Amino acid sequence: MKVPRSLGGGLEVAPEGRARVEALAVRLERHRGLYYSGTPEITDAAYDALEDELRSLDPAHPALGRVGAPPASKEWDKARHTIPMGSLNKVTTPEELHEWVARCDELLAKDGHPGIAGDLFVTEKLDGLSVELVYVDGRLADGLTRGDGETGERITSNVERMRGVPRRVAHRGSLSVRGEIVLRTSDRAEHFQEYSSTRNAAAGTARRLDGVGCEHLTVFVYDVADELELNTEEEKLAFLRGLGFVTPHAFAGDTDAVVELYRDYDTARRVTLDYEIDGLVVRTNDLRAQALLGELNRRPRGATAFKFPSPVKVSRVVGIGWDTGPSGRVTPVAEVEPVELVGAVVRRASLHNLANVRRLGIGVGDEVLVSRRNDVIPYVEEVVESAGAPAEVPTACSTCGSSLRQEGEYLLCRNEGCPARVEGRIRNWIDAVGALEWGDKLVHTLVSKGIVREPLDLYRLTVEDIAALERHGTKSAEKALGELRARLPLRLPTFLAALGIEGFSTQTARLLVSAGFADLPRLFAATVQELAEIPGLGEIKARLVTEGLDSRRAEIARLVEGGLGPVSGEAAGKLDGKSFCMTGKQRRPRKELEQWIEGNGGRVLSGVTKELDFLVIDDLASTSSKATKARKYGTKLIGEDELVAMVEGRS
Ligand SMILES: [Zn+2]
Repeated sequence: MKVPRSLGGGLEVAPEGRARVEALAVRLERHRGLYYSGTPEITDAAYDALEDELRSLDPAHPALGRVGAPPASKEWDKARHTIPMGSLNKVTTPEELHEWVARCDELLAKDGHPGIAGDLFVTEKLDGLSVELVYVDGRLADGLTRGDGETGERITSNVERMRGVPRRVAHRGSLSVRGEIVLRTSDRAEHFQEYSSTRNAAAGTARRLDGVGCEHLTVFVYDVADELELNTEEEKLAFLRGLGFVTPHAFAGDTDAVVELYRDYDTARRVTLDYEIDGLVVRTNDLRAQALLGELNRRPRGATAFKFPSPVKVSRVVGIGWDTGPSGRVTPVAEVEPVELVGAVVRRASLHNLANVRRLGIGVGDEVLVSRRNDVIPYVEEVVESAGAPAEVPTACSTCGSSLRQEGEYLLCRNEGCPARVEGRIRNWIDAVGALEWGDKLVHTLVSKGIVREPLDLYRLTVEDIAALERHGTKSAEKALGELRARLPLRLPTFLAALGIEGFSTQTARLLVSAGFADLPRLFAATVQELAEIPGLGEIKARLVTEGLDSRRAEIARLVEGGLGPVSGEAAGKLDGKSFCMTGKQRRPRKELEQWIEGNGGRVLSGVTKELDFLVIDDLASTSSKATKARKYGTKLIGEDELVAMVEGRS
């Protein structure tokens, strides 16, 4: 056979370098995934070093085309959930499960509804990334990550590649289902050996901008967010299966049967699954009971997570760090020899607080028992064998160097200018005003570079300031700044909550306003005694308020001078005693509207009940189940404009 004659050119890797090249490529991919999932394990400098090494060995390697920072304009769009994605309360023992059932029964008895103990519905609690799939007239329209529950990332193009996601379903109108993106154990073994945690692999891959690897992920669907004409969880499950969704294993039974099932799962069944679960989800099968039980703090009362006990393993302490947090509290952290717990390699474990460090008498070299509480944050449970010397307690803050003070069980950095505390305050401000485009990373960069020192600085930023930062484009900078300015002017309760003074919530702020302390001068002039007399406040809170305001006096003055002072809280109260529920799309973010309603004295309900005064809806002629129910109860349906007019006086 004739072989073409070589004319040279091209690039070959020396045989001994080949293994290294492949290992580097895999590691770069992995760290890139971690970076985008917000859990980087190495610094940018280390990442660059790996990339440089690969480039020197094989300049044409395809992995080099994929690595490096993608253009910022390609970040995922953010989108609001039709109905916020809440979370679950949890129980960890059969006794706690029985208590939960008893509490539900007690609440239901008041409504004359039968108890739930005999009719529970159970599914596996999958350990992955929560997702909302939205179908419009049977066609997949959107795939959103949970995000903060209010807003998620629109990863639709990735979701389309995942298994278990039908592109079309037989359902007219809009349909929103909830599920979990998981990496199955078999798929991990085949395609993701490099990851130390299955969950992180799933989360990182699902959010990759190039979508590579999403074909190995599976979506399990377990809930419908819309109010459909269904009576039980069982019917819901049958409905989902009928549409072609993959669902987790499900069971029905009474409390004792659930406890039996839980034991069976924990000791045997769990390991036979092709995916990781961290417990069972127990709900009242009857959906009417669920509706009657309602929710508290975004957590449904009619459902609970029955979590498996946290596994523990022994490791050795190699160092102890003291991290200052956003509130100034210092959290001791043990650095331990890497140990695998529930599919993740643990290197750092929390020691909670100073008092706990003293109680444990822990020191470097000690053998300790490490657990993953809630299967998320690793924690040092106990010292198994002491090496002798307990850890030295630091006297200076590891972030700013100022001296630490002990208060109760905690060590505190009292320096208001400490970058760790500044970052916490800025994040609180952004949360409180409801600016959704500001990620924690952007805030961290702005604070650590000294560009932002107080809230006022946020409003002085230019598009160029943000665009000049790593990984930020002009477009996202414009979006972020535009959003911040769109929230102005701030009402007094929001302004006060945004300052993030200890023990000073929007609730407290509202109490102050309704007691007549409706502007800053009156608040600053108030004495502890005056405030302590306000019903529901008390002396401890009153002291926190006056001391907190005083410590931020100069900063507040600068905000007012900069034109960012709050508008008087006098208007608050226009919605006093009225209740509102929102459905469908509104122009303003749901969270912002809620804060605005509450800031004006109104109350926000999560569902339509007989007590509800107003249903805020975009389409007044809607025939949705919420709208129909509201009409039946005589609840008034209003649009967003009408709601605003109730406060601002225009009709
Ligand atoms: Zn500090």
